Amino acid sequence: MTEATGHRLPKSVDPRHYRLSLSLDLAAASFAGQEEIEVQVHEAVSEIELHAVELEVGQTRLRGRQGEVLEAKVRLEPADGLAVVELASPAAPGLWSLELGFSGRLNDKLRGLYRSTYQRDDGTQATIAASQFEPTDARRAFPCFDEPDRKATFSVTLEADEGLLAVSNGALVEAVPAGQGRVRHRFADTIPMSTYLVAMVVGPLEASGPVDVDGVALSVVHRPGKGELRPYALEVGAHALRFFSGWFAIDYPGTKLDLIALPDFAAGAMENLGAVTFREPLLLVDPKRASRAELERVADVICHEIAHMWFGDLVTMRWWNGLWLNEAFATYMEMLCVDAFRPEWERWVTFGRSRAAALATDGLSTTRPIEYPVGRPEEAEGMFDVLTYEKGAGVLRMLERYLGEDRFRLGIRLYLDRHEYANAETTDLWDAIEAATGEPVRSVMDSWIFQAGYPLVEAELAQGHLELRQSPFRYLADRPAPGGRWRVPLVVRRSAGGEVAEHRLLLDAETASLELGEADWVVANAGGWGFFRVAYSDRLARSLLEHLGELEPLERFCLASDTWATVLAGRLGLERFRELADRLGGERDPNVWSQMASALGLLDLVAEGDGRRALASYTCRLAGPALEAVGWERQPGEAETTGTLRATLVSTLGLVGADPQVRRRAAEAYASDIEGRQPIDPDLAPAVLAVVAAAGGPKEYEAFLSRYRSPATPQEEMRYLYGLAGFPQPELARRTLEMCLGEVRTQNAGYVVGAMLSNRHVGHLAWSFIKEHWDELAARLPDNTIPRMLEGVSSLCRRELAADVHAFLADHPVRAGQRMVDQARERLDVHVAFAEREGPRLAQVLG
Ligand SMILES: [Zn+2]
Repeated sequence: MTEATGHRLPKSVDPRHYRLSLSLDLAAASFAGQEEIEVQVHEAVSEIELHAVELEVGQTRLRGRQGEVLEAKVRLEPADGLAVVELASPAAPGLWSLELGFSGRLNDKLRGLYRSTYQRDDGTQATIAASQFEPTDARRAFPCFDEPDRKATFSVTLEADEGLLAVSNGALVEAVPAGQGRVRHRFADTIPMSTYLVAMVVGPLEASGPVDVDGVALSVVHRPGKGELRPYALEVGAHALRFFSGWFAIDYPGTKLDLIALPDFAAGAMENLGAVTFREPLLLVDPKRASRAELERVADVICHEIAHMWFGDLVTMRWWNGLWLNEAFATYMEMLCVDAFRPEWERWVTFGRSRAAALATDGLSTTRPIEYPVGRPEEAEGMFDVLTYEKGAGVLRMLERYLGEDRFRLGIRLYLDRHEYANAETTDLWDAIEAATGEPVRSVMDSWIFQAGYPLVEAELAQGHLELRQSPFRYLADRPAPGGRWRVPLVVRRSAGGEVAEHRLLLDAETASLELGEADWVVANAGGWGFFRVAYSDRLARSLLEHLGELEPLERFCLASDTWATVLAGRLGLERFRELADRLGGERDPNVWSQMASALGLLDLVAEGDGRRALASYTCRLAGPALEAVGWERQPGEAETTGTLRATLVSTLGLVGADPQVRRRAAEAYASDIEGRQPIDPDLAPAVLAVVAAAGGPKEYEAFLSRYRSPATPQEEMRYLYGLAGFPQPELARRTLEMCLGEVRTQNAGYVVGAMLSNRHVGHLAWSFIKEHWDELAARLPDNTIPRMLEGVSSLCRRELAADVHAFLADHPVRAGQRMVDQARERLDVHVAFAEREGPRLAQVLG
């Protein structure tokens, strides 16, 4: 794909090796550095362009192989983030060493080289210097060729006060006194890698003794006193290292691997080679106090980042347009790896949920193709979204199911083999899979990668033929369709008289006809792997409802998700959702229930008067018997996922159903925990807290606040923080909102405000707060969290409020991730239209 609309560095000079030395002053939040970049000059140059942002760049010269020296001075071009080295005389082609002195500040925006803090037990503040360079912030820490295909090796030295721990990509080679209470930490050279993968972490931290994983030293790094929360991360990390070196048939590309928990971190985690950084709750966990879903999330993130050591670090996208190559694969590999770690979690069924989030975004006219041309760095920042990760992983899984896992893996191994230590593009991946399998993979996948949206496949059975028709799925019929036609790999399963058969076809025209004979039921997305939706004819839909128990969980999930989406889009009436819901009494899969719960949650936002009473009572009739069947207490021998199901039922009944019995029971469980008699079952805790908050007041609020301030685990801290967002009283909501400008870590504040937008009692207050404090929020919060905060506006689905949201956001663009904001605004329109169409009919349909 096209690369250049933004500025790219000229290729006349190539970096080979960085000798990088930084001296950090944590108390003063500053650093000073020296570097020597070995460069290959390909043609005579009188200037060398590098990236540098918010750095002072001083002493510069170019030294030749024979010791000749070219004096130079540096011209900064802040608008393009460049430092241009002007040479006193041209440098001839050959190897040179570019020497630069520079300095900068540790910022508080969680990008580049930044400051993270925590409070020690004695109340004093501890400071850590940490790095986050992806996509384009290495240039904020040292002048460099900050583009992913300018790979080089790095030898890093970090100098800091004694008594601090220092971590970088390579193993620590030596730590020697540097005088005046300072220590110089020198790290081993890295493999050739991109600048965005360089890591530097220095601070009062502690490391576990390394675990030997087939020759790789694996450690967890964290703030002091959290040692008991690390064994699970070590267990998952060791599993992932072994799993991936086997699956890829390539050894881990580093020599050691540190998993580092940071108190402040803008993203979830970052795959720096050999030095992966995480938010604390995504790495440090006590398995006895965590819910299964929290443990799964930690395993997901660790496996995802370790997959990147191969997919992303060893082989890297050539430019940011290919980000999906990194992220979709790491997401796909994360599922495989976690599925092997705990098969009883049925990870691939749960993936249906995150894939459904991608389908929800990709049905909007403001969606985008997985891959599109990227020019300026800001555009790359907008790519870290559900389309790159979940849609990307979804279409890869569709391809893998179509080819078979073994053949798919052969293609991936070939791809990594061909491009290790280098860069690659999407086309290289298809080349490798085609070479390994002989299948025309490219022509199928191009329609999914370079085209936005996905098809709605209509299915009808007539005279023994399954008639199929594809058209772009969209939520708003009056908006332009995102795509046109796809090459859809279809697997169809039909059952006739108890005999089940599967048929495969590639639907690449608008319509197709498949001879099936007579059938009792037909699933047009067998296995539930396709990245599309199915609209069954009335007759086929009814027959599936009659035979729900014969479908696989992911197929039932797809049926629920597709039915709800077509109701939301106005293709079907709410009655069709009810027909399906009425049949789900016996359902035991938590994912299918979570789909129903989110539908009921949206209905709860639009319901009024009689409609709300009808909704609450319908919710109790629907979910009550299911909760009764699984009970409140964990049963011996129950499935691993039952606790997750129980939590979904409790929160749905307690919130949407306002079920007095469930609320009382939740209050009891909470009281018993807070009084120290018996802790809440970890699986149930987030649900119980949400129900207690919804029915609670100032007393509960104070208790939540104090638990948030002194939590036993990072997960508990998050539960109580989000719990604070769930209270209905305006005065309590205002306190929580104010905290988001002060006490709440900036990495979390946007998410808390976003959650409050979705609280139907106080959403309008959260919205006023955003408008009032717009500049302050933009200055304070990490850029990537602003669009995530604004995702919550889609819950403000009253027409007048929606008009205000549109007017304000049209005038207030965000610095990064504008497309996500546009999508939230379009989703708001979907919800408003739905509310006006179905809101007045709620009492009638659900009564
Ligand atoms: Zn990733």
